[in-house]
Amino acid sequence: MFELSETHDMLRSTCRALADKELAPKAAECDREHRYPKEQVQKLVELGLMGVAVPEEWGGTGLDNLAYAIAMEEISRGCASTGVIMSVNNSLYCDPVSKYATDAQKETWLKPFASGEKLGCFALSEPGNGSDAGAARTVAEDKGDHWLLNGTKSWITNGYEADAAIVFATTDRALKHKGISAFLVPMPTPGLSLGKKEDKLGIRASSTCNLIFEDCKLPKDSMLGEPGFGFKIAMGTLDGGRIGIASQALGIAQAALDAATGYALERQAFGAPIAKLQAIQFKLADMATRLEAARLLTWRAAMLKDQGGRYTKEAAMAKLAASETSTFVAHQAIQIFGGNGYVTEYPVERHYRDARITEIYEGTSEIQRLVIAGQVLKAYG
Ligand SMILES: Cc1cc2nc3c(=O)[nH]c(=O)nc-3n(C[C@H](O)[C@H](O)[C@H](O)COP(=O)(O)OP(=O)(O)OC[C@H]3O[C@@H](n4cnc5c(N)ncnc54)[C@H](O)[C@@H]3O)c2cc1C
Repeated sequence: MFELSETHDMLRSTCRALADKELAPKAAECDREHRYPKEQVQKLVELGLMGVAVPEEWGGTGLDNLAYAIAMEEISRGCASTGVIMSVNNSLYCDPVSKYATDAQKETWLKPFASGEKLGCFALSEPGNGSDAGAARTVAEDKGDHWLLNGTKSWITNGYEADAAIVFATTDRALKHKGISAFLVPMPTPGLSLGKKEDKLGIRASSTCNLIFEDCKLPKDSMLGEPGFGFKIAMGTLDGGRIGIASQALGIAQAALDAATGYALERQAFGAPIAKLQAIQFKLADMATRLEAARLLTWRAAMLKDQGGRYTKEAAMAKLAASETSTFVAHQAIQIFGGNGYVTEYPVERHYRDARITEIYEGTSEIQRLVIAGQVLKAYG
C-alpha cells in the first residue's frame, strides 16, 4: 500500500480509535434492537464526519474524497449501520446539494446538514423501479406558485430521522428520464407520510422506509438544479455514492478478517491453533488479498474524483469489487469460526448480514457490470 499523507493518516487513526471505543462495542446491541445509533452519530458530528468533503464555508470539513473513503471504511469497520447513515448524508445528500444548489439554497439546505446538525436522505427508488430509475412515476406538477408532489419513493435510508430529502420526480413524463427533476423537501412536511420501518437482514440500526407524497405542496424555489436535470444529478451522485458504499464494504470486510484472524490464532484443534492449518491460512491469504485489491480500486476512484476527472467506471469497479469481496470475506470468516460463526455471540454473522446489502444498493452488482462493460466497449468502439 502506498503511503498516506499525514492528514489522511491522522484521520484514519482518529476514526479507527472512535470505531474501536465507541462504535464496535455497541454495534451488536443496536443491530439486535433495530435502534438508531444516535450517540454514535453525534460522535461523528463532533469529528466533522457528516460533511467530510464539503467546503468549510458551507459547514463541512473541507477535506478530499480520499479522506472521505478512509473515514467511511473505519467507521463501517466499527458499525456498518453508522457507516451507511454517514454515507447517505455525505455522498447522497450533501454532495449534490453542494454541486447544484444556489448559494441561497445552500444556507438552508447544506450548511446545517454538512455540519451534522441536521440529517439528509436521497429518494430515487420507487416500488416499481430501482435499477430502472429513469422510469420514475412520482410526479411534480407545476401549479404556478408552487409544485405539487404525488407518488411513493421506496427504500429510503435515514427516512425516519432525516430533516430533508432530495426527491426525484417527473415534471414532464413525455420526455421520459429527461423529464425528471430534483427537489429539496423538508421533513416532516404536510402531504408527506412515512411507510413502515423495513425489517432488514442487515444494517438494522439504520432506518429504511417509503416516503409517500399525497398532494405535497413545495415552494417554487424547491428545485435543485435545472428542470429536467434530475436524472443526470442522480446518476452523477451515485458515481460518488459508490465510493462511499465501496468503503463501507471494505470496513465490514476488514472487521470480518480481523475477527477471523484473531479467532484462528486462539482456537485449538488437533492440539494446535487452527491458524497452523494450511487450509485456514489459504482462506486468510485470499481474504486479505481481495480486500487489499478492492481498497486500491476504491482509493483510486476517490483520487480520480479529487482530480476532477471522470470516474464513473472506476467507481463502479470499486463498488463491484469491494461489495463482492465483503460478502466473500464475511462468508469465509464464518467458516473459520465454525459453529461459533453461526451465532450472535460472535460478530461475524452480523458482518455477513451487513455485507450483503453492499451488492444491492446504489446499483446492484449487475448494474455495476453493465456500467463497466459500457465504458470498456466505448473505449474500443
Ligand atoms: C436497505 C436498503 C436501502 C436502500 N436505500 C436507498 C436510498 O436511500 N435511496 C434510494 O433511492 N434507494 C435506496 N435503496 C434502493 C436500492 O438502490 C434498490 O433496491 C436497488 O437499486 C435495486 O433496485 P430494485 O430493488 O428495484 O431491484 P430491480 O431493479 O427490480 O432488480 C432486480 C434484479 O434484476 C437485476 N436487474 C435489473 N435490471 C437489470 C439489467 N438491466 N441487467 C441485468 N440485471 C438487471 C438486478 O440486478 C437485480 O438482481 C435501498 C435498498 C435497500 C434494500
